[in-house]
Order: sequence, then C-alpha cells, then structure tokens
Amino acid sequence: MHKYIIMGAQGCGKGTQAQLLVEAYQLVHISVGDIFRWHIANRTKLGARVNRAVKNGQLISDETVEEIVQRRLQEHDWNFGFVLDGFPRNRPQAEFFLEGYDVDAVINIEVPADVVLRRLLSRRLCSQCGLDYNLIYHRPAKTGVCDVCGGELIQRPDDNEKAINSRLNDFYAKTKPILDLFREKELVIDVDGTQAQDVVHSTICRHLAQPLAKGDGSD
Ligand SMILES: [Zn+2]
Repeated sequence: MHKYIIMGAQGCGKGTQAQLLVEAYQLVHISVGDIFRWHIANRTKLGARVNRAVKNGQLISDETVEEIVQRRLQEHDWNFGFVLDGFPRNRPQAEFFLEGYDVDAVINIEVPADVVLRRLLSRRLCSQCGLDYNLIYHRPAKTGVCDVCGGELIQRPDDNEKAINSRLNDFYAKTKPILDLFREKELVIDVDGTQAQDVVHSTICRHLAQPLAKGDGSD
C-alpha cells in the first residue's frame, strides 16, 4: 500500500508528478480541487456551498474540506494506495487527517519563489477554447494565437506579480506548520522541483523505495 500526500506551491509541477506516481504505482489521484470542480459542475449541494464561499472571497471551511476528503477515502477504490493533492492546507487539517489515516510519505516539491513567479507569469490561456499554454514549456506556434482554434491568448487576471506573490506568501505561511508537523514524524521527502519532470519523478521514486528514517532506534 502506498499512501502519499503531495505538496508544493502553485506552479511547482505537482499535478504532473501526482499523475506520474499514479501511473507508476497504480494509485488513485485524489485531488481536492478536482472534487470541488466536479461538485460545482454537477450543481450539488456541496458545490453550491463551495461556490458561495469562493464568490464571497472566503476560504472553504476546514469542516467542508475534511468531509470531502473523508468521504472520498471511504470509497475505498484505492487498492494500491493514493496520492492526496490539495490537502491538508493548514495545520488543523493535517492533524485531522493524521487522526484517521496513516501516511507513508509526504512529498514536498520545492521550487524557489522567483522560479514559481516566472512560471506563472508565463501562463497563457486561450480566450475562446480555454486551452492552457506556457511561454516557457508550451508555446503556441504563432505568438499570441491558439494553435487549436485561432483564439487570442490572454493572461488570467490573477496571474500578475502582486497577486501571485500574495498567493505564494499565503501558501508558505500555511504550509510551513504542516510540513513541521510531518517532519516531526519523519515523513517528508524534499525534492528539487526545478529539475526536468522525469528527473523529479525518478528522484521521488528513488526516495520512496528507501525505507524512511522512521523507527531508526532514536526513540
Ligand atoms: Zn483556443
């Protein structure tokens, strides 16, 4: 059984790494963001609650997020394990999780803030079909024009330096106490996320194959 949590700032390549782990170990990818989006798209009660919070600029409550994760894990479709992505987002959520489940490793993908900023400022989105581009990794054939539909490529309004920095600061402030908690339990694997995707993936796999220092006789 492989039970992993994957963490990292927006733009660190977490989604890709989660997907590669899923394929490598036949895991289930549990993305809290995807679950929220599903509920919103399917107009469930929960989706309405999430939508309301987002519209009012509020955070989705810990209780709601915990309920979602718990319900998802109770589906028990993860015979070989799971990669949890987008949870926990603060220390109380992490404590809640550890009360009910054990984790084999917490994969922390580290990318310096200036690199994240550069990556996010390079994101573009087709104004017509919504396809994502990145001027670093995934350039359109013709500058400013969507390869697929010919639509104009735009930047998301919240992908400006000020907004990104504020999101990053918020992320680091909330994440540090979570990582501290997991570090106490010797669960954290730190990986340099500035490397190529396949290098990041093989580094993660190498670490996962080694037994963690846990129970090495120190206590
Ligand atoms: Zn397009």
